[in-house]
Amino acid sequence: MAKPGNRELVTLQCTECKEENYRTPKNKKNTPDRLELKKYCNRCQKSTIHKEKK
Ligand SMILES: [Zn+2]
Repeated sequence: MAKPGNRELVTLQCTECKEENYRTPKNKKNTPDRLELKKYCNRCQKSTIHKEKK
C-alpha cells in the first residue's frame, strides 16, 4: 500500500551542539512539519532536542 517514494531520509541535528546524530526515514505525507525529537547526543552527553536538518 505505502509507496516507498513517500519516505524520505532526513537528518536529525542536535539543537545545542549542531551535531548530526541521527538519520531517520520520514513520511512526508504523514509528517509535513519538521521533525523534532528528544534524543541522546554523544557530544552533549545528554538528551537534547534534535531537529530535522533542512
Ligand atoms: Zn549535542
